[in-house]
Amino acid sequence: MADLAGLPDKRWSVRGLTDEGDEAWVIRGISRKLYRCPSCHGEIEIGSEHVIVQYVFRLGGTEHHHWHRRCAEEILIPELREARRVPAGESAQSKLEQRGRKPSGRRPRR
Ligand SMILES: [Zn+2]
Repeated sequence: MADLAGLPDKRWSVRGLTDEGDEAWVIRGISRKLYRCPSCHGEIEIGSEHVIVQYVFRLGGTEHHHWHRRCAEEILIPELREARRVPAGESAQSKLEQRGRKPSGRRPRR
């Protein structure tokens, strides 16, 4: 896990699996509106660097949330299984939504 320190950043995202076996992609973002962090329920101010967590569900479909970086580092990322870094280009929202259109059994393996 040590090599995930400071991630996600502009070049790297983090990908792991939840306990339920869904994919969680953790991506650096800049907020364009006010968000509320699901972990601490505090506000994420407009224009601030934070992380976006996009789930790609095993059975298809996606969902994303905006987290404070610190909350994600302390709570979210340590809970992920097989967490590793992936090039940020692979975590583009459009690609992940595409990925969510197929159940994981039919998804190409990376
Ligand atoms: Zn938070």
